[in-house]
Amino acid sequence: MAVLPIRISGAPVLHSPAAEVTEFDASLRTLVDDMLETMKAAPGVGLAAPQVGVPLRVFVFSWTDDEGQSISGTVINPTLFISPTPIGEADEDTESEGCLSIPGERFPLRRAEHAILRGVDLDQKPFEIEADGWLARIFQHEFDHLNGVLYADRLEYDHSKILAKVLRKKGWNTPDQSWTPGVDHLED
Ligand code: ZN
Repeated sequence: MAVLPIRISGAPVLHSPAAEVTEFDASLRTLVDDMLETMKAAPGVGLAAPQVGVPLRVFVFSWTDDEGQSISGTVINPTLFISPTPIGEADEDTESEGCLSIPGERFPLRRAEHAILRGVDLDQKPFEIEADGWLARIFQHEFDHLNGVLYADRLEYDHSKILAKVLRKKGWNTPDQSWTPGVDHLED
């Protein structure tokens, strides 16, 4: 297993839709193992294949809720059904979201409260997970990655203006930047 470099916003692979997985082979298994290792090292609660430079519809997730219930897994070729996104302004304290492809930053964003994730595992076995709250948010965030959408693309105007400034200051939003967990320590 290996920790892979994580692409930073601006890398074309993060901004284009990923392709369906058709080959369920050893290299897919290796990719998933490496993604799990990378997510753990980052650390993060979710990681999509485009973030490690692979344009395939795969993501991994790992989440422990307030009651200590843990869930982690891998989904391939997912579909996602969501409840309507609440209207109104996102709350800074309870709805701030981050992304390993925009390391160190967090911005509030409204997300649907409920989601149903369907897809297959590495053995092509179909499964379904019903999620609420933060897990539903993780699914929406990672599913977006498979469609070339970053949470940055969904921010309210004021937050998106601030983020654009941050990206400029850090010299990001160029095509070929990445960071490797455990190797690169990104300071503010
Ligand atoms: Zn992300």
